Amino acid sequence: GKRKSKMRPLGKSAKLANVCYDIRGPVMARAKQLEEEGHRILKLNIGNLAPFGFDAPEEIVQDVIRNLPDAAGYCDSKGLFSARKAIMHETQRLGIKGVQIEDIYIGNGVSELIVMTMQAMLDIGDEVLLPAPDYPLWTAGVTLAGGTPRHYLCREEAGWLPDLDDIRAKITPKTKAIVVINPNNPTGALYPEPVLRELIEIAREHQLVICADEIYDKMVYDGAKHVPLASLADDLLFLTYNGLSKNYRSCGYRTGWVVLSGEKRHAQDFIEGLTMLASMRLCANVPAQHAIQTALGGYQSIYELVAPDGRLTRQRDLAWEMLNAIPGVSCVKPQATLYLFPRLDPKVYPIQDDQQFVLEMLEEEKVLVVQGSGFNWPSPDHFRVVFLPHEEVLREAIQRMERFLANYRKR
Ligand code: PLP
Repeated sequence: GKRKSKMRPLGKSAKLANVCYDIRGPVMARAKQLEEEGHRILKLNIGNLAPFGFDAPEEIVQDVIRNLPDAAGYCDSKGLFSARKAIMHETQRLGIKGVQIEDIYIGNGVSELIVMTMQAMLDIGDEVLLPAPDYPLWTAGVTLAGGTPRHYLCREEAGWLPDLDDIRAKITPKTKAIVVINPNNPTGALYPEPVLRELIEIAREHQLVICADEIYDKMVYDGAKHVPLASLADDLLFLTYNGLSKNYRSCGYRTGWVVLSGEKRHAQDFIEGLTMLASMRLCANVPAQHAIQTALGGYQSIYELVAPDGRLTRQRDLAWEMLNAIPGVSCVKPQATLYLFPRLDPKVYPIQDDQQFVLEMLEEEKVLVVQGSGFNWPSPDHFRVVFLPHEEVLREAIQRMERFLANYRKR
């Protein structure tokens, strides 16, 4: 018989009890299993550009290759000087004032910096305002750091703009920061300047730190323009997050940055803590940092993809039109990003458990999407679609969805 282990059981830490990241959760694990069994899965689940033929700009790839022989050493914990200087110049172009080299921290993607900044900022019980729906790493990062996420609603009827009254209603004496994801994942919303100014007004009134995740700032359609939140005020502390993953199609390089701007004098202790956390992980991946200067200063090929006849625009339009044509499905047109967040009318689709719903779609039609609750959306009536596949694949995927939904209605 099998020998019983003499080791005492090893559970996950209590810190992880309320931490979750469903985008790579059980449904994705099942998709992997189906693939191993030989099924072809149409994946509309992850905002990973390169595998869909959105190549990283050749000149940044060459920068990494050319610098590889000299990139074997650790660098400064905040990142390479030349890369941070290029980021500083980018903040000047964006109208974010007063940023110095030392205000910039480069990390292994924005992901690492979300976790790091929340660890540096939060004490147990501190509250952070986060959008619902959100990019769930924010909720996970706040929770892991001992903070309490407080989700403010974004209103679908209002094109997914944040509900300012809901934000106000959720502020308590323990609220330390507000996270604004603009352009937004998963809704594709782009916030107009008056809304941004009102968000700043609320933060000012309650002395909140503003965390602005602007990683999709150049992935904007229909000639619209993204306004960096930190360009609108300098009397509050802003943390602005951005990186190479989306605008430069190099998610795998794991390169992002956070820029501290605005009023910093009251935050010296936090900044010291953040710097210590950065030094504890020595530095971010060095080879990929060599891509930053050329990425930011070079030709911005992303704008070709989001031009009126660009590949991303065409795919957005196709997916949006096809989804809206399905009975009981409605979808706000994304003004930015790679995502659609369609609504399933609960009268037509009485879904109880949206993870089960997307799992069934996967089993029946081999199409993989992520359920709305994976983005902390409170009711089981949404899912997220990534419109990265080529038009013919996208068309096939949404046709399969349509067939699945038609069967679902007959149940
Ligand atoms: N923030 C948002 C809103 C995202 O959608 C993503 C990735 O999808 C990230 C941050 C993480 O990006 P990175 O690759 O820089 O870790």
